[in-house]
Amino acid sequence: MTSELSTSLDEIRRAVAALCRDFDGSYWQGCERAERYPEEFVSAMTKAGWLGALIPEEYGGSGLSLREACVILEEVNRSGANGASCHAQMYTMGSVLNHGSEAQKRKYLPRIADGSLRLQAFGVTEPDAGSNTLKIKTFAKRVPGGYVINGQKVWTSRYLQSHMYLLIARTTPYEEVKKKTEGLTLFLVDIAKAGASLKSTPIKTMLNHHTNQVFIDNLEVTDDDRIGEEGKGFTYLVDSLNSERLLVASESLGDGKWFVENASRYATDRIVFDRPIGANQGVQFPIAKAHMNLQAAELMRDRAADLFDAGKPCGPESNMAKYLTSEAAWEAAEAAMIAFGGNGVAVEYNVERKWKEARLFRIAPISNNLVLAQVAQHVLGMPRSY
Ligand SMILES: Cc1cc2nc3c(=O)[nH]c(=O)nc-3n(C[C@H](O)[C@H](O)[C@H](O)COP(=O)(O)OP(=O)(O)OC[C@H]3O[C@@H](n4cnc5c(N)ncnc54)[C@H](O)[C@@H]3O)c2cc1C
Repeated sequence: MTSELSTSLDEIRRAVAALCRDFDGSYWQGCERAERYPEEFVSAMTKAGWLGALIPEEYGGSGLSLREACVILEEVNRSGANGASCHAQMYTMGSVLNHGSEAQKRKYLPRIADGSLRLQAFGVTEPDAGSNTLKIKTFAKRVPGGYVINGQKVWTSRYLQSHMYLLIARTTPYEEVKKKTEGLTLFLVDIAKAGASLKSTPIKTMLNHHTNQVFIDNLEVTDDDRIGEEGKGFTYLVDSLNSERLLVASESLGDGKWFVENASRYATDRIVFDRPIGANQGVQFPIAKAHMNLQAAELMRDRAADLFDAGKPCGPESNMAKYLTSEAAWEAAEAAMIAFGGNGVAVEYNVERKWKEARLFRIAPISNNLVLAQVAQHVLGMPRSY
């Protein structure tokens, strides 16, 4: 653990911001132009120990709290960088940490912490199931000593930048389980070992997000590749989602702050009709409103992270934080677009790039409609819509 990792949140912010200064807007524009993975940035984050933040010290990580890990990604995105390029290295290991065997923890966690092993790929979503994870069709058939898996995943991000692939598959058909959440199992797959059983094709998207379809054809895995018990994968998944939601919420928060800070500065400097455009209420009010909503969303993020760190239930709070931060960031993105006028769509100013990145978090890792449905059902006790 580097000394900066053991200090206060402010010091984490300062250290992360200093690292990110080496990767300015032109770096990110260059990556996007070439559709290139930001390898140098991810390596720098790994080397500084930030991506091993949530791995306990006994397994080689920094053993930071979730609140501290949230601040890392918030600051990354606030600087104008894109934390989505490496955020999964921080949280995907949660299933191994919380539900893996001691042997799996000793084998994988220290190497994930030092970056020699990348576990960035997480295969949940399937073309026919979409948001309805319980309806996935990828199936792991029991054979002596292990399983043979067949199926298809979509939107597996950073698959080509990963050594390991965390995969969820059905081990009992949907129609045969007593409870819909049963019968799903988590596997940790070594991509190189899988060889031709795993094939991927990239999905071209509006942003520089390295995401893929993955075709699984007679993939053989052993019992040692299974995380936890057979049939309990969905429970394990739900368990690790709170940290994912809150880390992504923090990226949205960082995006929102980037928009507000840059829009305020631009609106103060840019003179039209002989006065700063920021003197006009049509320009300044949307920025002020976005700022207030970001501040409020931050309180929910902090509350949820504190509950998580205290080991208390925080599902609704994590979902609400994800919703509120991504909506506030999107509001800030729109306010920045207004302030920057034509320059909002000029690549040079980075607003259009951040605008695309901020928009993604209203869709993934869970669409905001689904958050509304869950809050309506589970918090307010209203009828189920899905
Ligand atoms: C760039 C990118 C990266 C991603 N990375 C990963 C990854 O690494 N691993 C992974 O497993 N997945 C990943 N995803 C998938 C992501 O989690 C899904 O896109 C998301 O959960 C929504 O699922 P869907 O796209 O199938 O939409 P659908 O489920 O088809 O939904 C389409 C629309 O209908 C709405 N809708 C559906 N049902 C309801 C309902 N009951 N009530 C109200 N509205 C509803 C949704 O909110 C959405 O707006 C990624 C997606 C993107 C775009």
